[in-house]
Amino acid sequence: MLEIYSNQDLAVFIQQRKKENKKIGFVPTMGALHDGHLSLVKKSCKENDITITSIFVNPTQFNSTNDLKNYPRQVDNDIKQLLKTNCDAVYIPSEQDIYPPSYKGIEIRLNPIDQVMEGKHRPGHFNGVVNVVYRLFQLIQPDKAYFGRKDFQQVAVIRTMVKITETPVDIIMCETYREPNGLAMSSRNLLLSQTEKEKASIIYHTLKLGSELSQKNTPAETKEKMIRFFNDNARGLELEYLEIVASNDLQSINKTWVKGATACIVAFCGSVRLIDNLEIYPS
Ligand code: AMP
Repeated sequence: MLEIYSNQDLAVFIQQRKKENKKIGFVPTMGALHDGHLSLVKKSCKENDITITSIFVNPTQFNSTNDLKNYPRQVDNDIKQLLKTNCDAVYIPSEQDIYPPSYKGIEIRLNPIDQVMEGKHRPGHFNGVVNVVYRLFQLIQPDKAYFGRKDFQQVAVIRTMVKITETPVDIIMCETYREPNGLAMSSRNLLLSQTEKEKASIIYHTLKLGSELSQKNTPAETKEKMIRFFNDNARGLELEYLEIVASNDLQSINKTWVKGATACIVAFCGSVRLIDNLEIYPS
């Protein structure tokens, strides 16, 4: 696996592969890689000639300086993890590579999908995400890019950005990888103790309950019962929001179920912010 640390080396690598007509798969990450990330990398390796993974902790998508400061960084271990896959290259840019003074960034209207959930609770977050992903797409020119369903709203935002900017890339959404207790794998889980990880599984249990409740309840009733269940079993976790939304515009649904309806949860375990979701359309 090639380790690429500069835009010059990246450009040479990409140009060569494009000349050879190779299909490029791309997995953007912020590092502290776990099996969830690796599942994206493995899928890309299966579906493309070349796979590039990027590792860049993007400062502009953090709206809390403490969150940015505490975000786990372990590049040497990440490289070891990637060597377990068939990843062809890892791109580890500097902040200067991603945001040179000449780079103006893009501003696009994401309304209404950035007005809810993460958009509402993390002002500026999606602007940071859109800009870093757009910049990475420009540099890497992938045919396909792989994102986790865990960040459900992020996938919707990226798809909107790609459509508006007419960027020629297929966005592939991959299933959420979980710990045996149901907790979605996340780099932030490294900041949790074993006991906290056990407690945090309440997020997944609440989502699973939502799936059962959806059979006999409206979305609004399901949401209310899920919140009650979460709060009754939270053992110190604090719910930031729980929403049941339509998958196309991410607006809350109340009376009737729509295909692709998804329950989204964000909860704090101490100072660690955890996010998860599950499609809960009744069968
Ligand atoms: P991050 O490093 O957290 O920015 O994540 C990089 C990519 O991996 C994003 O597209 C995430 O949605 C995805 N990802 C993170 N955790 C998981 C997981 N548990 N299962 C599948 N994909 C994930």
